Amino acid sequence: MKTIATIVGARPQFIKVAPVSKALAATGAANEVLVHTGQHHDAGMSDIFFEELGIDAPDHNLDIHGGGHGIMTGAMLQKLEPVLQELRPDRVLIYGDTNSTLAGALVAAKLHIPVAHVEAGLRSFNRAMPEEINRIVADQLSDMLFASTETAVHNLRHEGIAPERIFPVGDVMYDAALQFAERAAERAGLLATLGVEPGRYVLATVHRAENTDDPARLSAIVSALETVAASLSVILPLHPRTQARMTALGLTFARVRTVPPVGYLDMVALESQAAAIATDSGGVQKEAFFYKVPCVTLRDETEWVELVDLGWNHLAPPSSVGMAEAILQAVGSSGKDAQPYGDGKAAETIAGLLTR
Ligand code: UDP
Repeated sequence: MKTIATIVGARPQFIKVAPVSKALAATGAANEVLVHTGQHHDAGMSDIFFEELGIDAPDHNLDIHGGGHGIMTGAMLQKLEPVLQELRPDRVLIYGDTNSTLAGALVAAKLHIPVAHVEAGLRSFNRAMPEEINRIVADQLSDMLFASTETAVHNLRHEGIAPERIFPVGDVMYDAALQFAERAAERAGLLATLGVEPGRYVLATVHRAENTDDPARLSAIVSALETVAASLSVILPLHPRTQARMTALGLTFARVRTVPPVGYLDMVALESQAAAIATDSGGVQKEAFFYKVPCVTLRDETEWVELVDLGWNHLAPPSSVGMAEAILQAVGSSGKDAQPYGDGKAAETIAGLLTR
């Protein structure tokens, strides 16, 4: 029996952990200990995902949230070390690119505990992004790197990571999309509650620091979404950070319909019926593709380059004009058929590798 200490803390990690934890349990060969750093901590950003996706309650909750990167990551290092020292797991499992990912990698590496990284090799090649720093460090410190795409494998090879450490497994978010599709379809009633019809609205999300923390970019996004909303309904589940920055800057929406962050099943219901999706989220870009909904990425670059190549995703940098036009033009468009994220068995493959 292998003891695996899984470190999570933020919304996208709860979605990624759901299929992997299930697959690990199914092996009967792993004792998974779940550590929640507390990075996302309230009902709408954390609890709902554990309930809806059937993730076991965390074995440890470090209850760390708020503060800048240094304060948050420092507190995580301090609180995580004694937990891992006592547990002495066979391996630490980390996901994605948040401060919780970075802290998990650093503490484990210093304690000489091997680290496995899910969603390894993603690169924006923009080191101004905190996520990019977290990814690079996490990948360097991991000895099992689970890559979602061919591009991710290429990026890792290019950085000199030994081929035997790289495992092209597919994308666990695709697994989650397949596993929860039926239950999400039952949430279609949400559209009527919000007063929109299938295929007649744009779904938007904005939360990335490069957009929320730059007043010019945030105002440009608000204004572009307002322009779109003049001709097509726009639904925006508002991330707490974006809400806080908008309030601080006195920015408001007149036409765009904002709602508090929604759970995963409601989000999938909203994504899969949208005419187009406008987002700066990594996960939402992929989900748009899973549901064959055209996507406009409100960033200067994307890690999910295959979606741009296939024609499903269009970059619309908030630093330039043309965001609203790009979103309206995306409606009704489509891209090429392909399956760049595996066959829906990434979690099973990862569980097999972790327990071999
Ligand atoms: N998501 C959600 N509710 C929301 C917004 C997003 O459940 O109100 C889900 C979305 O479906 C995707 C994940 O959260 O699975 C993406 O997380 P986020 O955008 O916070 O982070 P990123 O993917 O950019 O790291």
